[in-house]
Amino acid sequence: MIHEVLPVGMLQCNCSIFGDEQTREAIVVDPGDEIASILAVVARHGLTVKAIVITHAHIDHIGGAQKLKQATGAPVYMNQNDRELQNMLDVQATWLGTPTPEAVAIDQDAKDGGVLAMGATEFHVLHTPGHTQGSISLWIPSEKKLVAGDTLFRDSIGRTDLPGGDGRQILGSIHDKLLPLPEETVVIPGHGANTTIGREKQSNYFLQGL
Ligand SMILES: [Zn+2]
Repeated sequence: MIHEVLPVGMLQCNCSIFGDEQTREAIVVDPGDEIASILAVVARHGLTVKAIVITHAHIDHIGGAQKLKQATGAPVYMNQNDRELQNMLDVQATWLGTPTPEAVAIDQDAKDGGVLAMGATEFHVLHTPGHTQGSISLWIPSEKKLVAGDTLFRDSIGRTDLPGGDGRQILGSIHDKLLPLPEETVVIPGHGANTTIGREKQSNYFLQGL
């Protein structure tokens, strides 16, 4: 499987571009910004984007979704519990002092237990609320990879002090949905370096005693 991670925008959100070598289908996760660079990666591999997945409706993750949707015609998946946050993109833009991005229509609710297919590869939706109410993670069993959005980071967890955040809930999500995954699972967080489930279980300060 093709997998490139592109840190995009002011907050360097990790945008993942997944591609199937046989079908040349692609799934793009969190196109926060720099859509031209994302499209260049897609073109370099000769891929066709078939789905755009938003891990949560923070501006740095969803900001470029409409531009990518317009360029590719691909449907956008997001959990419906983040609709309220999505309607606050103008407020979020003032937090960062950036222009409000174009609004994007969500085509599919990314529900817990939902599965997206890309060629023979399955992407499983895990609803992991806490950073936001609609936060999801994507689990790719055949690759032993997890796209964690802003739920789990190397040595940290997502902040819960923004609207929709809940500190107890994020720990519950990590405990119930993420820590049961195989220890060797490679975690691609929403920002910063990759890690593994085993490494975070062992050394992440925020997870001690979970
Ligand atoms: Zn976030």
